[in-house]
Amino acid sequence: MADALRDVLAQARASLVNESRAVPTVASLLDAAARRLGHGARETLFSVINATGVVIHTNLGRAPLAPEAVSAMQAAAGYGNLELDLETGRRGSRHDHLDALIAEVTGAEAGLAVNNCAGAVLLALAALAAETPVIVSRGELIEIGGGFRVPEIVAQSGARLVEVGTTNRTHLSDYERAVRDHPDARVILRTHPSNFRMSGFTSAPGLDALAGLARAEGLLLIEDLGGGALIDLKPYGIADEPTVQASLRAGVDLVLFSGDKLLGGPQSGIVAGRRDLVAALSRHPLARALRLDKLNVAALAATLRLYRPPGDPVARVPVLRMLTQSAAVVAARAQALRALIADLPALEVGVQDTVGYAGGGALPMQALPSCAVTLAGPSLGADALARRLRTGTPPVLGRIERDRVLIDLRTVADAQLPALALAIRQAGEGGKSTAP
Ligand SMILES: *Cc1c(COP(=O)(O)O)cnc(C)c1O
Repeated sequence: MADALRDVLAQARASLVNESRAVPTVASLLDAAARRLGHGARETLFSVINATGVVIHTNLGRAPLAPEAVSAMQAAAGYGNLELDLETGRRGSRHDHLDALIAEVTGAEAGLAVNNCAGAVLLALAALAAETPVIVSRGELIEIGGGFRVPEIVAQSGARLVEVGTTNRTHLSDYERAVRDHPDARVILRTHPSNFRMSGFTSAPGLDALAGLARAEGLLLIEDLGGGALIDLKPYGIADEPTVQASLRAGVDLVLFSGDKLLGGPQSGIVAGRRDLVAALSRHPLARALRLDKLNVAALAATLRLYRPPGDPVARVPVLRMLTQSAAVVAARAQALRALIADLPALEVGVQDTVGYAGGGALPMQALPSCAVTLAGPSLGADALARRLRTGTPPVLGRIERDRVLIDLRTVADAQLPALALAIRQAGEGGKSTAP
């Protein structure tokens, strides 16, 4: 108790000095201390309303799952036939629930899922390229964030990095020379630049040309696609994202991608490609260390099933639904929210067009025309209002622009509007932020 009071007093002193806030009341200090004490014993992970407009938001847990995936996780939570063949009563494999499904929806010969895409890259290189040179363009030696750096993953796999080309330009002849100079090389690795874009004087060989070279020289072409879209998003104005199927068609031997980015499933790393190579990955000891747990097996299988014909993944997978909904639909939701909070005396409420983002290290620069409700309090700065929203029930994450809090409706579901309106009302009325 004393520690909690001391912390709260220190924080209050700091905000008096740094932000010249009004002196807090004793009651509010006691309240804050009680909340702090409660937090120690209570949950730390809450459901929040994502009003940032960033669809695949890594800090907010990336892809929100489809209801089908949530029910599948619930069903798998107790005992289940995860590794049991119910027909024969013999031991089965957890991979049986996923491998054929991955192959079916990607069009690959075979599939495998592990804990995440970083794990899939590590496993693929360890199984297929350990102690041999791996050829990578200098333009693709990227860092994704969260500690994923291509040179370090290559090193951890036991392979040796061979860099070709320059930062901005790599030609097919650069790869050809590296193949000639390193006769023991078995793998060419291609990585999607994800959250990094080069423009201007740049070039890289097409995937077809690279696959042709790999085939002619008896090498494997492995592609770390990162985002991993299974449907073409071009008709929805999302131009830059290649599909898994296109990479396989171009002749990539193994495609690796995340389950919780554009696929819209749980955290996982998916491998799709040649049967013999997928088999080599599943036999490697790292496959056991990187295996998916039963809840993710269930959620991933349910998500992948949404992609099977005649399904409609764009309507059923939340990530795809949010990415592809028209600006008019988002604007209508913004008007609906405004109507729910228009009577709030403490806040100026407006609606404005804005820009959301796909995010998630998949296509973070992909701008999505969006619409936001704007909130401003005459006596309350945007930072303070944003903080109240963030610490309310449920927590609401918006973004600040020109001293107003923007509530971007692209990433909010219609069903969340009543709870969102209530949370804004509480924040605006300056009432106690009752932490969840
Ligand atoms: C996001 C990303 C990864 C890491 O994926 P995780 O599933 O988060 O491990 C690896 N490579 C690329 C190109 C990515 O975009």
